[in-house]
Amino acid sequence: MEDGPGLFVFAHQDDEFVYLCMLRNMAKSGREIHVVWITDGARFVPAEVRKAESTAVMRMVGVGEDRLSFWSYPDGASIRFAKEIVERLTETMEEIRPSQVYTDGFEGGHPDHDMAHFAAVTAARRLDPSIPVFEAPLYNRHGRRRWRFSQFIPAETETLYVPVPRDGIIMKLRALLTYKSQFWIAVLPMFLFTNKRETMTRGEPYRRVPAWNYRQPPHEGKLIYEGLFFRRVLGIRFSDFREAVLRVQPGSVSVD
Ligand SMILES: [Zn+2]
Repeated sequence: MEDGPGLFVFAHQDDEFVYLCMLRNMAKSGREIHVVWITDGARFVPAEVRKAESTAVMRMVGVGEDRLSFWSYPDGASIRFAKEIVERLTETMEEIRPSQVYTDGFEGGHPDHDMAHFAAVTAARRLDPSIPVFEAPLYNRHGRRRWRFSQFIPAETETLYVPVPRDGIIMKLRALLTYKSQFWIAVLPMFLFTNKRETMTRGEPYRRVPAWNYRQPPHEGKLIYEGLFFRRVLGIRFSDFREAVLRVQPGSVSVD
C-alpha cells in the first residue's frame, strides 16, 4: 500500500509549494505521483502562465508533465461546481487507485482551498474510506486577527514534518522565483510571513485530516475569506461554502 500511487489535489497553481520536499522525496523513490489542480488560477493572470509555472516547479521536483492535470474551474468560484468536482475526483481516484491523498488544509483561508480539500476527502471516502487523506496548511486566521502562514489550526491529529534539508531550501527558493506571476500576490507574503526557522528545523508540516465538520467554519472568529479583501474580490461567505457541502451531501449524511 505504501508504494501505491500518491494523489495530490490542489486548488491553485502554487498550493503545491507546501509539499515540495515530500513530492521530491516521493519522486526520487520512484513513487507514482499524480497532481490535480482544480481551478485555472486565472483570476489575475492567464491560465497558461500559471500552468507553465507549476509544470516547471513539478519538473524541478521530478514529476513529469504527463502526471499533471489542470482542470480549469474558475479561480475563486470553484464552490459553484462542488458536485461536479467531487464526482470527477471520485472517477479520477477510481482510475488511479491512490494509496494516499494529499490536499490543501481546511482553514477558511481561501474558499477554493476549502473546496479542493472537501472534494479530496469526500471522493476518497466514497471510493474507500481506508485511504489516508492528508492536509497541509497554507494560510488561516485562527486565534488572532492577523494571517498565519503554514501553521495548522489545532486539531486532534498529530502534525508530521517532512524535513527540509539545505538543498531543499534552495529548491524551495527557486520554486518561489518560478511562480513569477504570483510574486506580489502570494509569493512575497508567503516568504515574509512563514516561520523560516521552523521550516528549516522541523520541515514541511502535514497531518491526517481531522474529523472536520464541513458545515461549521474551521475556527471561531472571522475567516480570512470573510475579511474585507477577499470578500470584495470573491464575494463568498462561509454560508456559501456550507451550501456547496450540502449540495454534495444532502440530508443528514455525516462527513465524519
Ligand atoms: Zn491557493
